[in-house]
Amino acid sequence: MPELPEAEYMVRRLRESGTGTISQVKVLRPGMTGDQPARRLPRLAAGQAITGYGRRAKSVLIQLANAHTIRIRLGMSGHVYRVADAAALPKHTRLAFLLREGGALAFEDARTFGDVTIHADADLPQVFADLGPEPLDASFTPAVLAQALAGSRAPVKPLLLDQSRVVGLGNIWAAEALWQARISPTAPAGALNPKQIRALHKAVVGVLTQAVANTFRATETAADFPEADLLAVAVYQREGQPCRRCRKSIERFVQAGRSTFYCPVCQSGTAIVKGI
Ligand SMILES: [Zn+2]
Repeated sequence: MPELPEAEYMVRRLRESGTGTISQVKVLRPGMTGDQPARRLPRLAAGQAITGYGRRAKSVLIQLANAHTIRIRLGMSGHVYRVADAAALPKHTRLAFLLREGGALAFEDARTFGDVTIHADADLPQVFADLGPEPLDASFTPAVLAQALAGSRAPVKPLLLDQSRVVGLGNIWAAEALWQARISPTAPAGALNPKQIRALHKAVVGVLTQAVANTFRATETAADFPEADLLAVAVYQREGQPCRRCRKSIERFVQAGRSTFYCPVCQSGTAIVKGI
């Protein structure tokens, strides 16, 4: 499933591919425009110059000259990229922006959980009101992370998955960041000390930066995005294998319905409540 690293990868690739002017919006599968009427997107996007690309959490953004932004939610399998031939769109293309200069931006989505909507730029703060800070932004500091976790007695691992606290950390990257920072996944989030916050901040930024780089490297050879086991993970899905730091076996338990992988030595103090 595409997470922040894959969305970031797509945005950087789109920037490399350049901008253009949308000549036509082709909706190849009904229902791909989310909760908006199907006509809204073509009406507002056709004829508009693309001014840039962006990302908010796991959404890819296409910015238009008419002060509107197209938001692509990737769902379970979405992938947006530029193709050279608009007459030969990839098999699972659900929606495409044909470009006056030739070619198209294709939104491929085999499982069709994604959608494409358009919003006035002025409405974007409201559209994204429920989202926490962006960990790859320069404005993401240890103080911002501390504020996001402050006041919570919930265990830190599930809280890191809460997109209203901080965006972009899926189950893999939350576990990896906590291992790097040597913090127990069951530690109360609001009780982390300043040193732990600094370590966690560094780990979150580092893990996501590395994940973006891994996505670039892996897609040089693979046609699709790599599974987690192809990436350089330290704990995720490594139950029973030696910790890369201390050689103790990595353990797994279920936390808030998700598997949590951790090192019992490097992340000491992990208090597992059995049976949940
Ligand atoms: Zn260890």
